[in-house]
Amino acid sequence: MTSYDYDLFVIGGGSGGVRSARVAASLGKRVGIAEEYRYGGTCVIRGCVPKKLFVYASQFPEHFEDSAGFGWTVGESSFDWKKLVAAKDKEIERLEGLYRQGLENAKAEIFNSRAELVDAHTVKLLQTGKTVTAERIVIAVGGTPNPHVSLPGHELTISSNEAFDLQELPSSILIAGGGYIAVEFANIFHGLGVETTLIYRGKEILSRFDNDLRQGLHAAMVEKGIRIILEDVIHEVKKDEAGGLVAHTKQGHSLNVGQVMLALGRDPNTQGLGLENAGVAINDRGAIIVDEYSRTNVPSIFALGDVTDRVQLTPVAIHEAMCFIETEFKNNPTKPDHHLIATAVFSQPEIGTVGISEEEAAAKFEEIEVYRAQFRPMKATLSGRSEKTIMKLIVNAADRKVVGAHILGHEAGEMAQLLGIILKAGCTKDDFDATMAVHPTASEELVTMYSPSYRIKNGERL
Ligand SMILES: Cc1cc2nc3c(=O)[nH]c(=O)nc-3n(C[C@H](O)[C@H](O)[C@H](O)COP(=O)(O)OP(=O)(O)OC[C@H]3O[C@@H](n4cnc5c(N)ncnc54)[C@H](O)[C@@H]3O)c2cc1C
Repeated sequence: MTSYDYDLFVIGGGSGGVRSARVAASLGKRVGIAEEYRYGGTCVIRGCVPKKLFVYASQFPEHFEDSAGFGWTVGESSFDWKKLVAAKDKEIERLEGLYRQGLENAKAEIFNSRAELVDAHTVKLLQTGKTVTAERIVIAVGGTPNPHVSLPGHELTISSNEAFDLQELPSSILIAGGGYIAVEFANIFHGLGVETTLIYRGKEILSRFDNDLRQGLHAAMVEKGIRIILEDVIHEVKKDEAGGLVAHTKQGHSLNVGQVMLALGRDPNTQGLGLENAGVAINDRGAIIVDEYSRTNVPSIFALGDVTDRVQLTPVAIHEAMCFIETEFKNNPTKPDHHLIATAVFSQPEIGTVGISEEEAAAKFEEIEVYRAQFRPMKATLSGRSEKTIMKLIVNAADRKVVGAHILGHEAGEMAQLLGIILKAGCTKDDFDATMAVHPTASEELVTMYSPSYRIKNGERL
């Protein structure tokens, strides 16, 4: 029998990699893990966590304004970007330490190095040039912002990576993209006082979300003062005379701004990884092709998380890692379940959603019922802020199952987490109706929409 240095070697110390390594090591397996940048990966270092901290920071100006309606007089306020970045850095350092600690406690061997494949069982650690062998290898190297190299002047732009650590907060920014990262950063920068423009080539921001929410969020962002340009793209970025940048768009806009941020999707980190040495197959986007058990075409090599381009979310990468452990080390074959993933967009207002949109449901089922409520949240009555909450339930008329739940409003992400359990359990609209409301809350609306707002039969709204 061949003997290897490790039972498992993991390349990439992000959400999926750390979970695979830590749990395998805690089962007594001999585990090595290599990370080329910082343990915690995208989510902890330059994704979900710092992003949410920045969202909180950007909400304070509205809180200060709203307080007046409740009798408060708030003194003059000011914002210090450097202080925010330093506070964020301290927190992610703490979290990075916890990730490393978890690996150490489980007795995984930690390498601070880039790793590349040499063959189906061998990995090279670039920092020392040493090679190690493993019975199984997990590739969990994540993704990186698409740099859009065909855009003239792309080298003058930033991505979400740099946005977290800018030396100075710009006075204005142009953000290209219509996905959740572009939308979230547009709200963050606007909230921090930056004049913000979002440019997106599509007809509406956030494709794949329910149309009502897309339009509702668009209107709310414009009302706050964010400029949104649709059906247009940047075709050149140059330095301007004032020391800033000028972006020229296909439709003829010229925008002078302090920064241009590109949020145009993420590419799998597979370049130079040595996949060809081991014969690991990738698709035309460079993502590693895996089967339902996260197995690549090479029996000893597995891939999970963003590098496989299935669903690019932290809990998904972690779930895939746990399924890998069950299957490979606990003799309990378990496929990751990608059905009904609840998710949030930390825009302002927030989006929380699970299941399919009205448009998808109308195309999929013969008849659907749509329950829709749009109302002013209670806090806005005294604050005077003109804002709307939208809640929607999409029901398959044939079996009364709730197939989609969509919310735009405060704490929509928190609500989506709980709705995720409800939809996963296969609850029907009658289960919602039979549930007592919690009063006074916004979410009580979800259990008090007794009659459908409208039905859609064979694609026709009735
Ligand atoms: C701005 C932003 C906001 C986000 N917000 C959310 C959110 O709110 N909620 C959510 O669920 N998801 C969010 N995500 C997505 C989430 O961060 C990813 O889905 C998640 O991190 C994927 O985990 P992973 O393990 O696949 O990869 P990653 O976490 O990206 O980890 C991969 C690691 O591998 C390392 N690496 C790469 N190549 C090598 C190599 N050859 N050798 C050694 N190490 C290597 C990288 O340095 C990295 O640390 C966000 C992402 C971004 C960019």
